[in-house]
Amino acid sequence: MKILVINTGSSSIKYQLFDMATEKVLATGIAENIGSDAGSLTHTTMAQDGTRKKKCISASHMDHSKGLARITALLMDRDHGVIRDTSDIAAVGHRVVHGGETFQTPGIIDKEVMDEIEKNIPLAPLHNPANLTGIRVAQSIFPHAPQVAVFDTAFHQTLPKHAYMYALPYELYEKIRVRRYGFHGTSHSYVAQEAADFLGKPLDRLHLITLHLGNGASASAVKNGQCVDTSMGLTPLEGLVMGTRAGDIDPAIPFFLSRHLNMSIDDMDDLLNKESGLKGLCGENDMRSVLDNAAKGDDQSRLALDVYTYRIKKYIGAYTAVLGGLDALVFTGGIGENAPEIRERCCSNLTYLGIGIDPDKNMADTKNLRQISPVEAAVAILVVPTNEELKIARETQKMVCG
Ligand code: ADP
Repeated sequence: MKILVINTGSSSIKYQLFDMATEKVLATGIAENIGSDAGSLTHTTMAQDGTRKKKCISASHMDHSKGLARITALLMDRDHGVIRDTSDIAAVGHRVVHGGETFQTPGIIDKEVMDEIEKNIPLAPLHNPANLTGIRVAQSIFPHAPQVAVFDTAFHQTLPKHAYMYALPYELYEKIRVRRYGFHGTSHSYVAQEAADFLGKPLDRLHLITLHLGNGASASAVKNGQCVDTSMGLTPLEGLVMGTRAGDIDPAIPFFLSRHLNMSIDDMDDLLNKESGLKGLCGENDMRSVLDNAAKGDDQSRLALDVYTYRIKKYIGAYTAVLGGLDALVFTGGIGENAPEIRERCCSNLTYLGIGIDPDKNMADTKNLRQISPVEAAVAILVVPTNEELKIARETQKMVCG
């Protein structure tokens, strides 16, 4: 069974084709800068012996429809192809950012599901329209294949009401659904299950904190398999310090900026989402550069690392309290998986919580799932490579095959 996983953005389509018998990726790629004259498509196929063949083509002024048509042609290409015909694709799984309060699980896409995704556009004005475009385009190219929507918010729909409500006038929730939703749900739920499998314990008997630290970053508290709190909120702006997002701030700061600097709402939106976080503190949003500059003695980069890791530590403390005890702390995402210094800083001086890192294990040069706490430690600290695409493929298979 071959499942195509698609992540459609406003100007990009990322894709992976899985053979579900082996869960191996057969082909992967990205169509970028859709709609501009700098459009391009990068397509890589993986042979059974592990060798890769890469093809890059420029494709100016393609729209999403032409983009996916070109991707499909490459999937069937004589040299780079991995399928003979579009009917070889058994199902298509779509990453959909916002499922609002409607979706606790993935959904097989029909008119009702499309309408619900559309209804949630006000909550994700940049993402849901693009996701809908991706679904429509895939439906026209793979008319026989069931399409499944896997929502970034779904895993967090188990939050209890006291965790998802803001202390705002209740009618804002009743009328326009202002509440915490949370994002990165596919990654949090994937790494939580991987952690349980690694520890050899059922997920429904574990108390976990999962830290997804990529360009965006979020923390989740997972109790007995259910997410009970998460750091992103109505939007992905809340919570941890990120590459360019501020995370938690005093909510009165925008009023202050408006009054003192005459900033418009759009300017503040840009400031908090695109100019803040690591970039705001030290000018770099890529963690590798921040670490390099800090190592060279740059004070602002050092400050950025202090603020970044202090915020994570606060969430570890808060979520340990929320969970009433902790079995494992899970690091994932580009930073969580690859930056031992960040992991070490987040976990320093937490021995009273049972949290401690084995320095040698933390520095080990491997990409595999691994434990970086001493064997005897009360809390297992794990580095778990995330794989959102595989999770979407698995969910799609589950929905389609039952
Ligand atoms: P996205 O959220 O876009 O999927 P990723 O999960 O790929 O992002 O994470 C990107 C972040 O991971 C960047 O800040 C990058 O600097 C960081 N990163 C990747 N590799 C390393 C590394 N070896 N050391 C430190 N940070 C790294």
